[in-house]
Amino acid sequence: MGGSTARSGGAFWIPANPVLKREGAGDSLERGEKYIASVVEGSGPAERWKAFLEYGDETVKMLERMTQLSFFWAKGYCDYHPEEPGGRAAGRSVESRPFDLNKLGGQAIAGGMYAGALGAGIPVWTEAKLVDLEFTDSAVTGAILEQGGERVSVRAKVNHGDAIELAQKRLFPDEGAGRPGASVRR
Ligand SMILES: Cc1cc2nc3c(=O)[nH]c(=O)nc-3n(C[C@H](O)[C@H](O)[C@H](O)COP(=O)(O)OP(=O)(O)OC[C@H]3O[C@@H](n4cnc5c(N)ncnc54)[C@H](O)[C@@H]3O)c2cc1C
Repeated sequence: MGGSTARSGGAFWIPANPVLKREGAGDSLERGEKYIASVVEGSGPAERWKAFLEYGDETVKMLERMTQLSFFWAKGYCDYHPEEPGGRAAGRSVESRPFDLNKLGGQAIAGGMYAGALGAGIPVWTEAKLVDLEFTDSAVTGAILEQGGERVSVRAKVNHGDAIELAQKRLFPDEGAGRPGASVRR
């Protein structure tokens, strides 16, 4: 816990997300796609930003379901390039209302997400130092951590594609059961 996340302003920028829809921002996926394409097209694989667009709505719904965060549209916090096709002067940024420190001792979005992770039974290790990565061929498949003077190997159980599918089942249980995870070897 900590790092940049504890310092972050906590705003997220996700086109046509449920908060924008609820607050009548009048955004659409098509408009968001037009904007992202005009700003980043050609600078990286299109499937990445298309996946960002495709799963943004579900991600925000999941945050609202699994945490006590309360989001609002930061209307007027304009897109960085509002003059580009699909850009918006009214913006698409969403922020969290203050999170009650008494619930955790954390702050706003990072605190709320941490509380959500704890509520979902996700173990959080502190004082765990990353000392090395494990590879299978050229892909990273695990990490060596040091905790309390002990070295621990944490390996992903599933590959990237399966992980996405399993995470969806775990985070959206209405659509089926599943459990992404990691194996831990001491
Ligand atoms: C002032 C500020 C405002 C920002 N506002 C926003 C915003 O509004 N919206 C937004 O989307 N982004 C914002 N950002 C950016 C955002 O906060 C970061 O991109 C994000 O928090 C990065 O998360 P992370 O998990 O990759 O890294 P971090 O949160 O930095 O976490 C990395 C952690 O790894 C630990 N670590 C490092 N080396 C090791 C090791 N060898 N072993 C074990 N642990 C190690 C570090 O101590 C740290 O705790 C902001 C950033 C700053 C600084």
